[in-house]
Amino acid sequence: MADASQPHVLDSLDKSLAAWASEAGAPGYRVAQVRKWLFEKRAVDWAAMSDLPKALRSDLAERFRLWSAQVARHTHADDGTEKLLLSLADGGQIECVLLRDRDHERRTICISTQVGCGMGCVFCASGLDGVDRNLTAGEIVEQMLQLQRLLPPDERLSHIVVMGMGEPLANLDHLLLALDEARRDDGLGISARRITISTVGLPPAIDRLARHEANYRLAISLHAPNDELRNQLVPVNKNIGLAAIMAAADRYFEASGRRLTFEYVLLADINDRPEHARQLARLLAEREALLNVIPYNPVAGLPYQTPTPDRRLAFRAILEQAGIRVKFRHRKGNRIDAACGQLRRSQQPLPLVEL
Ligand code: SAH
Repeated sequence: MADASQPHVLDSLDKSLAAWASEAGAPGYRVAQVRKWLFEKRAVDWAAMSDLPKALRSDLAERFRLWSAQVARHTHADDGTEKLLLSLADGGQIECVLLRDRDHERRTICISTQVGCGMGCVFCASGLDGVDRNLTAGEIVEQMLQLQRLLPPDERLSHIVVMGMGEPLANLDHLLLALDEARRDDGLGISARRITISTVGLPPAIDRLARHEANYRLAISLHAPNDELRNQLVPVNKNIGLAAIMAAADRYFEASGRRLTFEYVLLADINDRPEHARQLARLLAEREALLNVIPYNPVAGLPYQTPTPDRRLAFRAILEQAGIRVKFRHRKGNRIDAACGQLRRSQQPLPLVEL
């Protein structure tokens, strides 16, 4: 049985398994077998690892928890999107999502890095109550494995987006450890160019990421083309500012060679005016970048709305005329509250928000 006092094996898998193998007197290839069971054969528990001697399986079970979370809710949308609400060992809750794109044969997972979020973006459900804590590396890897298990055995995960609950660059150590497991051949085997980290824009952490050996794709959540508006929508911007973020983004592009993505959640009558589109075009001009415009997914209790189709088209036309590479996204899984933080939120009383 899982016991919360046992170490979670996924937290530092290599170290845990190496220590186990040496203390149990198990030959090195047993470690490779365990890894195979975890990442490839999708074992549900230690007992399932049937090509390991029983004594070794019970030894593992006595030392380590394999899972630290429980599925509290599992929702499906008509478009194939599935979402898990996970309850962690300390009662905290996080969300993660499997998105299927049948046209492009993609199976993308969206994972969380924190319980709650400390960035305070005014339109987002995840940050309404601030941040409780960082997830451990094991809790991040566990989301990947839980979501992989939703696929039929002959299908593999192809992409990861770190766009769930929390600010990934505020938990970079644990995230990088978890993504190492995602990339490894004896892990999930997903290469760095298929992994996107989305951030509100924390320059020192962007620079750290630029020095990391793996070149992940970086997405920066802009949501406003000037500091005055961004300070209102993304409060941490007050201490950072767009100029510093754009400079860090440019350094990341230099170091990684990966084209940058900028995200812009379109909020009716707030950041969707023609002048905003023009400013945004100026900000992004001459940058090797893709702009992802995301229609707002309304959050119960918050006063923000999705712009009308006319407004969206007008916004888009200005950017396209200015030669900006732009994609207007459709939200997948709307009906299952797939925007980050929404499912967890729907189980809690709604906040009162002043309009
Ligand atoms: N902290 C990271 C990851 C957040 S989630 C970041 O800021 O990038 C990924 C994206 O979804 C962010 O751009 C975020 O601002 C956006 N988002 C949050 N709530 C949303 C909502 N209700 N509708 C549409 N996009 C939302």
